[in-house]
Amino acid sequence: TPNDDFCPGLTRKAMGAERAPQSQPCTLRLLVLIPILLSLAASQDWKAERSQDPFEKCMQDPDYEQLLKVVTWGLNRTLKPQRVIVVGAGVAGLVAAKVLSDAGHKVTVLEADNRIGGRIFTYRDQNTGWIGELGAMRMPGSHRILHKLCQRLGLNLTKFTQYDKNTWTEVHQVKLRNYVVEKVPEKLGYALRPQEKGQSPEDIYQMALNQALKDLKALGCRKAMKKFERHTLLEYLLGEGNLSRPAVQLLGDVMSEDGFFYLSFAEALRAHSCLSDRLQYSRIVGGWDLLPRALLSSLSGLVLLNAPVVAMTQGPHDVHVQIDTSPPERNLKVLKADMVLLTASGPAVKRIAFSPPLPRHMQEALRRLHYVPATKVFLSFRRPFWREEHIEGGHSNTDRPSRMIFYPQPREGALLLASYTWSDAAAAFAGLSREEALRLALDDVAALHGPLVRQLWDGTGVVKRWAEDPHSQGGFVVQPPALWQTEKDYWRVPYGRIYFAGEHTAYPHGWVETAVKSALRAAIKINSRKGPASDTEGQGHVHGVAGSPSHDLAKEEGSHPAAQGQFSLQHTTHTRTLY
Ligand SMILES: Cc1cc2nc3c(=O)[nH]c(=O)nc-3n(C[C@H](O)[C@H](O)[C@H](O)COP(=O)(O)OP(=O)(O)OC[C@H]3O[C@@H](n4cnc5c(N)ncnc54)[C@H](O)[C@@H]3O)c2cc1C
Repeated sequence: TPNDDFCPGLTRKAMGAERAPQSQPCTLRLLVLIPILLSLAASQDWKAERSQDPFEKCMQDPDYEQLLKVVTWGLNRTLKPQRVIVVGAGVAGLVAAKVLSDAGHKVTVLEADNRIGGRIFTYRDQNTGWIGELGAMRMPGSHRILHKLCQRLGLNLTKFTQYDKNTWTEVHQVKLRNYVVEKVPEKLGYALRPQEKGQSPEDIYQMALNQALKDLKALGCRKAMKKFERHTLLEYLLGEGNLSRPAVQLLGDVMSEDGFFYLSFAEALRAHSCLSDRLQYSRIVGGWDLLPRALLSSLSGLVLLNAPVVAMTQGPHDVHVQIDTSPPERNLKVLKADMVLLTASGPAVKRIAFSPPLPRHMQEALRRLHYVPATKVFLSFRRPFWREEHIEGGHSNTDRPSRMIFYPQPREGALLLASYTWSDAAAAFAGLSREEALRLALDDVAALHGPLVRQLWDGTGVVKRWAEDPHSQGGFVVQPPALWQTEKDYWRVPYGRIYFAGEHTAYPHGWVETAVKSALRAAIKINSRKGPASDTEGQGHVHGVAGSPSHDLAKEEGSHPAAQGQFSLQHTTHTRTLY
């Protein structure tokens, strides 16, 4: 209509004016729009307010904007290409490999497993086509570096529904919708103090942070965080946080904070800055494994699968990396490189023999890394029965063994994340057979949603226990109060020609973006390393291991073990599509 020409971009749907006649004047339409604009402005205010959150400000990485630039534009092209071996094809290894190879370095990635991605692992059901994220599943809006990386790789993101008010909380045999728990948590049977009643669990948690906020203002970030490192979350909540025991128990049961009670309070603050039902999250359309896959296909370098690194020897001019090509015979091969980037998890690094040995402070820092188990159990149903209860995503909480149940969003199928547990809670599934674990999760889903779900279960499901994964040997790092608190710096400084990256080497632990940040930092350092690259040139065969030949990656392309078919060569590409 002519009016539409005067109001470009205003569709009837956007105005919420489905019943408005077409002849409505433009001014009237604008009036309808005002409340929408006001609420939009309010949400922007809210965002601005949040970005001023003193805790968030305190935890901001000073180099965040620099890392964002690297993920956007890449590194400066090198004039002295180096031979770099990256150990591990998780997201940290692949991101570092990509930016380094784009900058002109000769990069080879060695991966112990028979797949890439590490703790990004998407299960794809062959029959239904439904997917389940066995590892990472959501990215907070604040993770701008990860968002940018996905954008650069052409990956589409969509909303991950973290909270749906119609989901359930069931504790002590009392079952309530979460919109009720938000308003009157005391209905769950916790004897809360008067000032704690009528507050949502998140608000109770925020109330407890008041003293910490005062500390932050009085002491400044560095000193306050140092103080917070010394106490557990539990000590803080009951002590300076001044919460009643029932309130703390409520937070443990409803927000799964009990798994974090023994963390240092500083670590808990970092965890909470990324994990809250109040935050907005995204996910990758089509599955998170598209991220490592996209990195792989834009990588100009070799990625060797089934190539576990077992030893490293540093000489004055290079590093010799031994891979075990055919366990259990231990048929070792040696590859040479100018520099190595080690992105394997802490327990996996501990199994690598270093010569000369890692310095004492690094060995101690490795030993102090505290990994918690994380377990996911998916059950496949014939139909998404939760929709009949008006649940369209989000999670229910239960004090039964399954603890947290996450629902697929509409049109995402009926593969239910029937249980997500971490820390001590994951012990409920340890040692069970796959069938026993599926049955245990089914019992809990049936307890929450009724016995009919047993008939709707199609008999299939997946169990992933990360503590039992031979390559990660744990879910993620969460640190209790420690004797020394300088681990972070240890990992940022290379040990000779060996650099470190991965989720455990940066903050906040347990997030994909953290692994990406650590990879970018290491790549910047490697790219700007001063030192004669030519040191290694002209050297031929070195450092054999009993009866096995060595391989110089940069120079012996033809005799590269992959070229000889001794490894399963996942991918080689020289196309550069991004950066
Ligand atoms: C259950 C679960 C849920 C999670 N949910 C989220 C989430 O929702 N959002 C989020 O952002 N993050 C989440 N995370 C965390 C996130 O998945 C990790 O922080 C991130 O994927 C770690 O990447 P990385 O490259 O540091 O380590 P990894 O992914 O572990 O990669 C290390 C690689 O090194 C390989 N390797 C090990 N030893 C050797 C060796 N000797 N030689 C060669 N290769 C070796 C391993 O096989 C692995 O591929 C979750 C993690 C888990 C376990």
